[in-house]
Amino acid sequence: MMTCVRFHDHQEFSRGCCLYIGAIRQEFGGRRQATALPSAHHLPMDAASLHTVPPTLLLSHWLPDNILHSLPLWLAHLDLRDALLLLLTPLFVLVVGLEWWRFHKVRNAKVYDLRDSLASMNLGGAYTLLDVVIVVFAVIPAMDWVYRHRWTTIELTPWTFAGLYLGVEFCYYWFHRASHRIRWFWCAHVVHHGSEHMNFTTAMRQSWLYSFAGNWLFYTPMVWLGFEPRWVLCALSLNLAYQFFVHTQWVGKLPRPIEFIFNTPSHHRAHHGRNPVYIDRNYGGTFIVFDRLFGTFVEENEPVDYGLVRQPKSSNALWLTVHEWVDMVRDMARPGPWHQRLKHLWAPPEWEREPPTGPGTRDNPAHASPSPSRPDRRPAA
Ligand SMILES: [Zn+2]
Ligand SMILES: [Zn+2]
Repeated sequence: MMTCVRFHDHQEFSRGCCLYIGAIRQEFGGRRQATALPSAHHLPMDAASLHTVPPTLLLSHWLPDNILHSLPLWLAHLDLRDALLLLLTPLFVLVVGLEWWRFHKVRNAKVYDLRDSLASMNLGGAYTLLDVVIVVFAVIPAMDWVYRHRWTTIELTPWTFAGLYLGVEFCYYWFHRASHRIRWFWCAHVVHHGSEHMNFTTAMRQSWLYSFAGNWLFYTPMVWLGFEPRWVLCALSLNLAYQFFVHTQWVGKLPRPIEFIFNTPSHHRAHHGRNPVYIDRNYGGTFIVFDRLFGTFVEENEPVDYGLVRQPKSSNALWLTVHEWVDMVRDMARPGPWHQRLKHLWAPPEWEREPPTGPGTRDNPAHASPSPSRPDRRPAA
């Protein structure tokens, strides 16, 4: 089905959208025999009704012909809550400028490296722009589906929002832990750990393939509980905005009660370390309590060596985004039994296959130190 209608003003466009929604409802509602479109005034005309059309359907059936005329529809699908990080970008850039000014005259500080920071900001820009599109057109429709099958409905009040924020933090903890311990998720998260420097631009190092990897799946329990998807994503954006401010060497240790409850610059510096004692520790977003509860907390005691054990030597944003995916596919492509090859998808990043004949051939020295194995972890199974 392809429509070639042109619209003269927004009102006419909205009316056309509603007619189109009706046509889609008929076509996909099992009433294919119906040929007449429903009257426009039988359908709601407000922007909210446009959300009832799966955006992917609109993309595939309608937008290619009307890309300019459909801008209002794109905007109808956008929500301030989706673009929170985008809106905060000027503040982030200002804080980066202040931090750079603070350290640029300090001898041997090595806090900033121009190539490194530019790569981080390139990655951050691609993430902010591309992720909004993926979220609007894929993640929110998927979450809306979960919301339609929710357990109950939770009205938003300051108290329930506080509960939502804590729940999202709990989900974030498990998302982050899975991102370090499951190769599939690590392929996206590795981008964030790719800098050998620690400053506010390091926070911008994100992969725009997070949504493809399925990070949003970790937050669907909150949607199923009864929180509106856009509020769940809004709480997550606030959590991520908080995390921007923990990527710094500007702040030492904070008062003990704060260090006990919150994820602080000190805790997060340790998280970015490749010192054996710091690997796979301090997963919290805003709080550090779940790390204390689940045994993944470590105090920042020794100087942190930032970066990855197997450090990619590149500043190319595209390669930094895909290098671990490429490595994983290469690992899977090596000959061997299928269950072993597929295990690269869910095994920890440092997992290696048994050498096919005798010792000596190592398959995947991915994330952790290839030799010796980490002191705090039993040998890979
Ligand atoms: Zn991490
Ligand atoms: Zn970080």
